[in-house]
Amino acid sequence: MNDDTPNSNESRVADQPEVKAQDNAANNGAAKNAAAKAPRKKAAAKKATAKKATAKKATAKKAAARKAPAKKATVKKAAPKKAAAKRQAKPASVVIVGAGFAGLGMAIRLKQAGVNDFVILERGDRVGGTWRDNTYPGAACDIPSNLYSYSFAPNPEWSRSFSGSNEILDYIHYLVDEFDLEKHIRFNCNVTDLSFQEKAGLWEATLEKGEVVRGRTAVMAQGPLSNASFPNIEGLEEFEGKKIHSARWDHDYDFTGKRVAVIGTGASGIQIVPELVKTVGKLKVFQRTPGWVVPRPDFKTPDWHKKLFKKVPASQKAVRQALFWTHETMAMAVIWNSPLTRVAERLSLAHLHNQVEDDWMRRQLTPDFRIGCKRVLVSNDYYPALQKDNAELITWPIARLAPNGIRTSDGVEHQLDCIVFATGFDVSKSGTPFPVKGLDGRRLDEEWQGGAQAYKSINVAGYPNLFLTFGPNSGPGHNSALVYMESQLDYAVKGILRILDGNLKMLDVKEDVQQRHNQRLQKRLAKTNWNSGCKSWYLTEDGFNATMFPGFATQYQRQMAQFEEQDYQLVPA
Ligand SMILES: Cc1cc2nc3c(=O)[nH]c(=O)nc-3n(C[C@H](O)[C@H](O)[C@H](O)COP(=O)(O)OP(=O)(O)OC[C@H]3O[C@@H](n4cnc5c(N)ncnc54)[C@H](O)[C@@H]3O)c2cc1C
Repeated sequence: MNDDTPNSNESRVADQPEVKAQDNAANNGAAKNAAAKAPRKKAAAKKATAKKATAKKATAKKAAARKAPAKKATVKKAAPKKAAAKRQAKPASVVIVGAGFAGLGMAIRLKQAGVNDFVILERGDRVGGTWRDNTYPGAACDIPSNLYSYSFAPNPEWSRSFSGSNEILDYIHYLVDEFDLEKHIRFNCNVTDLSFQEKAGLWEATLEKGEVVRGRTAVMAQGPLSNASFPNIEGLEEFEGKKIHSARWDHDYDFTGKRVAVIGTGASGIQIVPELVKTVGKLKVFQRTPGWVVPRPDFKTPDWHKKLFKKVPASQKAVRQALFWTHETMAMAVIWNSPLTRVAERLSLAHLHNQVEDDWMRRQLTPDFRIGCKRVLVSNDYYPALQKDNAELITWPIARLAPNGIRTSDGVEHQLDCIVFATGFDVSKSGTPFPVKGLDGRRLDEEWQGGAQAYKSINVAGYPNLFLTFGPNSGPGHNSALVYMESQLDYAVKGILRILDGNLKMLDVKEDVQQRHNQRLQKRLAKTNWNSGCKSWYLTEDGFNATMFPGFATQYQRQMAQFEEQDYQLVPA
């Protein structure tokens, strides 16, 4: 059954009446609300509870053991410091920054490889990363769920082909329960500095509150899209109405009857507009550049599919494979300029013609760059939403914000109650989200000023024992980020095991190897659609592509399958 009006919250609310009473922010409480999980997750939760009970007993024992010195500590004032020093005395094998898909996936793969003394430092108070933060109405993945999930943790219960953020967040909580990860996570730990101590061969993560957490290796899994960014528009602070960023949704704000603007018509903007238009009084959509929009084959999963997936897991694997290869084929349309690029453009234009009647509006919505140059948008309800009576598409450039609204360069002041910024994220293309210091006082943000570079997207010369997830040039334009991520996780595990088992002080990629790798990458990137002239978040201001991988996912997987030791300098402990 084809349902053209997907709603990220629909399935879960329908299945779980007890959640209905809560607003969308219930999403945020999902971790604590086991009842809001799918049956399989309930089972997992039970299992986890049992595990947790055992773990709790063990923790209680340990706590009891620790109690005696703690009593002494009340007598001696210096004891808390000693306790802190003690905690740091034994560095973890791995310090992971971030508890999103990448950090948790890393933890799972480490556990499966027999590494258990790792710690995950998460600045938030819950897991989930992208899917904890992006709870705007309509938030959903744009890669089918059977592919946008881990192959080593399939979920037979996806309610739709493209699941909403609630359901994806539930899946992430399921991962935490199923693989017993919670005890490894330290919440409210914002990493503000990561420094390699050469003498000791250790990474030190400094937290906002001053504590230092040490590890023999470090994994940066802080996410490429985790820092919401507001556009650089004059008068941003002057606007006196409500401002909401798509990644920090205010579920308490009542949009009913309000005059609302959405700035930004990228992947998030086109999901928000069809939902907001249902409740607001007037919706003005401010578009800088129209994107290519293709239809979204979104279906409710029939029950028999779920049953089949549970009974015969190979059937779900087959579906995943089919999706994977379909997306691989799309690489030929979106990454390079090929005859398939024309086919994709025609398909998108046909979608526009089918959905938009007005000639002028069609012109306003027709992109003037090659498909693939920016992220391809997937939607069935964006164009129809723009044509609702209470919606208006504004294509005049924004001149500035004023106390009462937005002034466009045609001299009009649009009076508004609320502005929604679907304006994306601060992507560290030429810097790092916090200082990262390597050998001999090197700083990654300084080295990356001209554009980020790494070896195979995961290691950087001069920063030994450090592994990046979603590092430079690992971005897919056509396939699931999690497919790429799995390759990174497995590669990192190989490197980490080499360090731990080989008792290495340092494993550092050779500078010349990294350089050659990047020269090859940039040559290949020059021939891609991303570098064909449009402005996008993939490129730095001066057009350097530090973001995307110029090839098929299969090529990326092949690149990451081999850990080539000769590319590294190995220093024994
Ligand atoms: C709205 C939206 C939809 C998307 N849809 C898709 C899709 O359909 N398909 C697809 O392939 N990709 C999609 N993506 C890309 C998505 O970002 C990745 O797929 C994936 O979720 C990234 O996971 P991550 O763990 O690397 O990062 P995140 O999910 O961002 O997790 C990073 C974690 O690190 C924490 N953190 C950050 N800085 C620090 C610090 N200094 N100290 C401690 N902790 C820190 C954050 O709080 C966060 O919990 C989407 C992204 C967005 C924003």
